[in-house]
Amino acid sequence: MQNVTRATFNHVMVPNYAPSDIIPVRGAGSRIWDQQGKEYLDFACGIAVTLLGHCHPKLVAALTEQAGKLWHLSNVMTNEPALRLAQKLTAATFADRVFFCNSGGEANEAAFKLARRFGNTQSDGRKNQIISFYNAFHGRTLFTVSVGGQAKYTQGFEPLPGNIKHLPYNDLATLEEEISDETCAVVLEPVQGEGGILPATQEFIEGARRLCDKHNALLIFDEVQTGMGRSGKLYAYEHFGVTPDVLTSAKGLGGGFPIGAMLCTQKAAEVLQFGTHGSTYGGNPLACAVGEAVLDIVNTPEVLAGVEARAKLLREGLDVIGKRYGIFEPVRGMGLLIGAPLTAQWKGRAKDIVNAGFRHGLWTLVAGPDVLRLAPSLIIAEADLAEGLKRLDAACAELAGTAVKKASGG
Ligand SMILES: *Cc1c(COP(=O)(O)O)cnc(C)c1O
Repeated sequence: MQNVTRATFNHVMVPNYAPSDIIPVRGAGSRIWDQQGKEYLDFACGIAVTLLGHCHPKLVAALTEQAGKLWHLSNVMTNEPALRLAQKLTAATFADRVFFCNSGGEANEAAFKLARRFGNTQSDGRKNQIISFYNAFHGRTLFTVSVGGQAKYTQGFEPLPGNIKHLPYNDLATLEEEISDETCAVVLEPVQGEGGILPATQEFIEGARRLCDKHNALLIFDEVQTGMGRSGKLYAYEHFGVTPDVLTSAKGLGGGFPIGAMLCTQKAAEVLQFGTHGSTYGGNPLACAVGEAVLDIVNTPEVLAGVEARAKLLREGLDVIGKRYGIFEPVRGMGLLIGAPLTAQWKGRAKDIVNAGFRHGLWTLVAGPDVLRLAPSLIIAEADLAEGLKRLDAACAELAGTAVKKASGG
């Protein structure tokens, strides 16, 4: 018997969210089922998180095996899953050191605190400016919303942490004008996720690296959304051939189990000496055991190459639907992080498309009011991709008023 429904939400939850009417109770692969047994194809992955689908057998095994062994210690003692995952992450990336936490916001909080201490130890207290970009999203803690580039997330929470400068994304000339020896860090997403699935240009990324070197500032890549294979490489920085000093990872890292990580060079790591920062749960054995299983699967040539192949199919399908209904501009993004910007006559209606998708058994996302965002599992079956596109086509047909009406009897 069901004794909780969507109506319960309004009675017991803080009203900061407005979830859909659907309450899923079960998932397998790229499908979820709601309380009424209705099935949905998942092109959202819980906002780019469940990148191996729901209840992947190897992740279930890693989690349940660890659950029978050891759940939690705190950082008074280290543990084997955390050490193994850190070993694998440093072996697979530019990084020498890892700090574990529980979310993307916490990973960025650590990175920004590191940046401030870095600046403060290099100067007479004047090297503390953080440069970030309009429409960036870095999390919901007070520091991370302040560094993020969307005023709506800081309004009403003043006073905010100071000396954060926001500049236009992909505008190297402005960055060059504004950066100085008082800048301690430049932070950017290789593809702005929440900001509309907007990839950085090669020139911008290379220029940011050069300017950070010139002014002795840390370059921080927020790869919370682009990381763990979603871009078609383990981390998106590999596409650009530019390495940051600090990189943050979360979302896909746990495949659905909460975990975040800050990866950094030895030089950056030294800033966070004993006692300077911490987390009770960070590096928790359960989270790290799952993270290790995710990394073992994702960081293989088959899975990473499969991302590109699936992305191609998805882009082709979106182009067809986009043209058929005059609904999408050319799609953009990287790998299986795809944005379909709406055409002028559909502007502002991304949410309507998501809702129509729900009616047709498909879960998609928005990235702002004007972009439909798709982030399916990295290993979604091609048949599921095709079926999801069919459902998206039906949703767009309904909105465009061209849906074929079901014959009513005979
Ligand atoms: C989702 C996201 C975050 C915040 O992660 P949480 O786990 O929600 O704290 C930070 N940065 C980027 C780029 C994100 O997409």
